[in-house]
Amino acid sequence: MPEVPEVETVRVGLSRSVVGRTIASVDSLHPRAIRRHPAGPLDLAQRLAGRTVTSAERRGKYLWLPLDGGPECLIGHLGMSGQLLVLPPELPDGPHLRGRLRFTDGGPELRFVDQRTFGGLRTDELVPDPPTTVPSGIAHIARDPLDSHFDDERWITAARKRNTTIKRLLLDQSSISGVGNIYADEALWRAKLHGDRPVNKLSRPVLRTLLAELRGVFGDALRAGGTSFDSLYVNVDGEGGYFERSLNAYGRYGEPCPRCGRPIARMKWMNRSSYFCPSCQRPPRAVAVALG
Ligand SMILES: [Zn+2]
Repeated sequence: MPEVPEVETVRVGLSRSVVGRTIASVDSLHPRAIRRHPAGPLDLAQRLAGRTVTSAERRGKYLWLPLDGGPECLIGHLGMSGQLLVLPPELPDGPHLRGRLRFTDGGPELRFVDQRTFGGLRTDELVPDPPTTVPSGIAHIARDPLDSHFDDERWITAARKRNTTIKRLLLDQSSISGVGNIYADEALWRAKLHGDRPVNKLSRPVLRTLLAELRGVFGDALRAGGTSFDSLYVNVDGEGGYFERSLNAYGRYGEPCPRCGRPIARMKWMNRSSYFCPSCQRPPRAVAVALG
């Protein structure tokens, strides 16, 4: 499943290759891929044809392309396996092609490819979210730490009033968006924090450090083009990422902690797994007892 660095990589690719271009036509090739656009494929095509893409924006794992001449935008949901690929028109269609935007310049087209078809395309209206705008349907999603308008001190103040654990808070999209299981475990490892620590017991400097480490993990993943944990995920040019080789804790059960050498532990966590170093990231007392 793509996480923020992957989606940001796609956004950068889109901003290079489709911004400033005018949409000529839209093909909807699978009903599931436009199920989130209830007015149907013809409506989608009519709304988009003749519009120019003015920028490529992202919040958490959501991507959108604002269009000229109105508050409308095109949202791309990548879902579990969706890809937005910019490809030469002469390249044959792949088996999982679900949608296509052609441009008036006859140049590279935008293809939405999705093997499992959990993702899709739809339009939405932009609403103000000072100092920027956001599609109305995702206005409930918080900014992510790569967003230049993310307010660290405000987040820390709100976080310390929450009666939850730090890992749960990191995965709460209404508090901070775009942090999935992999990035949460990596940032917590870097900050030497156990995910089950209660947030309201963490100091402001500790939470500042955690935000810095989260940005460090995102930054490293961005430079590597994303984790590509899911082999289906590729960026707009079709290349996978290499960040997974540099993960310190996630998926490293039993391997030595790169910092202290003690084996990385794994515990069940909300139908998933948490990976951590039991020495560098001391669990809170109750969890320590459960681990024996
Ligand atoms: Zn360690």
